[in-house]
Amino acid sequence: MPELPEVETVRRGLEQAMVGRTFTNVILRRENLRFPFPENLVDTLIGRRVDSIRRRAKYLLIDLDDGHVILSHLGMSGRYTLFDGEKVDQFTTPNDSDERSRFGTATGFDGRHDHVEFQFDDGSVAVYTDPRRFGIMDLIAIGEEAIHPLLEALGPEPFGDWNANHLAQRLHKKTTSIKVALLDQRIVVGVGNIYACEALHRSGIHPQRQSKTLVRKDGKPTKKLDALVEMVVEVLEQAVEVGGSSLNDFADVNGTLGYFGHHFQVYDREDEPCLKAGCGGTIERITQSGRSTFLCPRCQR
Ligand SMILES: [Zn+2]
Repeated sequence: MPELPEVETVRRGLEQAMVGRTFTNVILRRENLRFPFPENLVDTLIGRRVDSIRRRAKYLLIDLDDGHVILSHLGMSGRYTLFDGEKVDQFTTPNDSDERSRFGTATGFDGRHDHVEFQFDDGSVAVYTDPRRFGIMDLIAIGEEAIHPLLEALGPEPFGDWNANHLAQRLHKKTTSIKVALLDQRIVVGVGNIYACEALHRSGIHPQRQSKTLVRKDGKPTKKLDALVEMVVEVLEQAVEVGGSSLNDFADVNGTLGYFGHHFQVYDREDEPCLKAGCGGTIERITQSGRSTFLCPRCQR
């Protein structure tokens, strides 16, 4: 499942490919993803120019020049693939083009899960592929994102002015474990399972530690909570960097690209030695709220 750094990578790729271009056609190959497509999606988009692309948590917000915004969430398996005009011309439309796109193996699954095709005035095409169809595509008016039912309850973004004081305010009465709190999108958005494990390890905090024990009696963050916030931002930033370097001239804006896999220090490393210098511990796996947590019991307290 794409996490925040992957979505940010996709945002940057789409930004390069779409901003300044005008939709000439939109093909929908089905009526819905997780929810039905808005009825006016195609009519609204044709003739509109893309002005900017923003991200809120794991939602992409594609701003159009008439004040509409395409709200796009990749769900479990959604991704975009971009083709410039020359590349598009190399593909021929299959006879059953209602069911599959012309892009075949270039987007995977023989084109059978290419549910949306955005065509632009320079001949380029952005294809949205989503085999499991948990993705979301909606159309809202600019400004509505603050009151949209999917977005209104979201907590602060980890990038920006978020800091340990903000987190301490949210945690000072919380008896839930710090790992579970980090995954709660009302507390902070976009810290998925992998990055929560990594940030807790780097800051030496046991994932089962009660959240409120990281807040001082006067409501200020403890040193450990300061470190945690710093490490959350660090692991996410590093992952965005890795993702960014995997984008080769916007040819492939793929939700599965850019995973921070080569840099995991605890995630998916059960029974392997802790990589912290001088620790000597062994990584364990436990389950919290149905998700795997990886930790080093020796250096995480
Ligand atoms: Zn350790």
